[in-house]
Amino acid sequence: MLNSPITTTVDYSKDGIQHGFLKLPYSRDDSAWGALMIPITVAQRGIGPTVLLTGANHGDEYEGPVALIKLANAIKAEDVKGRVIILPYMNYPAFRAGQRTSPIDKGNLNRSFPGSANGTPTQKIADYVQRHLLPLADYTLDIHSGGRTLDFLPFAAVHVLDDKAQQARCELAMRAFAAPYSMTMLELDSAGMLDSAAEAMGKVFVSTELGGGGSASAKTIAIADRGVQRFLVHAGVYTGALSPVETVMLDMPDSSCFITCLDDGLLEMCKDLGDMIVAGELLARVHDVTRTGVSAIEYRASRNGVLASRHFPGLIACGDTLAVIADVLH
Ligand code: ZN
Repeated sequence: MLNSPITTTVDYSKDGIQHGFLKLPYSRDDSAWGALMIPITVAQRGIGPTVLLTGANHGDEYEGPVALIKLANAIKAEDVKGRVIILPYMNYPAFRAGQRTSPIDKGNLNRSFPGSANGTPTQKIADYVQRHLLPLADYTLDIHSGGRTLDFLPFAAVHVLDDKAQQARCELAMRAFAAPYSMTMLELDSAGMLDSAAEAMGKVFVSTELGGGGSASAKTIAIADRGVQRFLVHAGVYTGALSPVETVMLDMPDSSCFITCLDDGLLEMCKDLGDMIVAGELLARVHDVTRTGVSAIEYRASRNGVLASRHFPGLIACGDTLAVIADVLH
């Protein structure tokens, strides 16, 4: 198999704190022998588990980058038993552009796994994470939010896995993260996700959706900060005891949780995130933007539950996910 073109300035076997880069050669008009320099921090002391922490898998989701750059700058080797690998801005070109996907190749990193060593820059990042970072990791936390087009109730998430013992380990780590909500998440499009790649290797993997709208709030950043600290304690890399924290358990049992918009127009949400909803209740109206005198299209709830996600911008198009309604378990 082709070697990754990515080289690194850090040594994954060395004790101490190392701030460096993944260097991805990228020849282009403004830099003939240039490279993309993706920041990475490795904190290690002695023998212990390895935790991989990633942000900006999508470039317009900010709780991960904010929490992880703070951790990278604050982490001390003497507080670590084992190893922490921190990639605050994993799809770096997308992050720098403030976009979900890379401006270079339009690559959606979280649909690019297992990647390719001779593919596009986004595929090369996926390939490096797949073959060089995931195998090192016992625990992986990938911090997402809704980005510019979605907003979420703040939750940590796991998937339904064939290996129930592995799923139980993921659920324990999700509860340790202690977001206000904890979701068993259904993916409609899981091929190529970091989640699937890590889960297929048998890793303990937790993802999050902590907010959205293309920014981050003090509240959601605090959830990320606390969650990362607790995740490290749970993994055994940080010492300490975890105080129990209330989290509302949510489930997305089937595709009826997703409400897809079938019209272009002006979105009027009639419910907000966190609202409890009864099947048939009015969820949103979509107004015609080309003329007056036309009745709005009504969107009604497909099921009982809580409004867990919504389309964020004021305008909506046919095919957009308008809302996600999740079951509240307890
Ligand atoms: Zn994302």
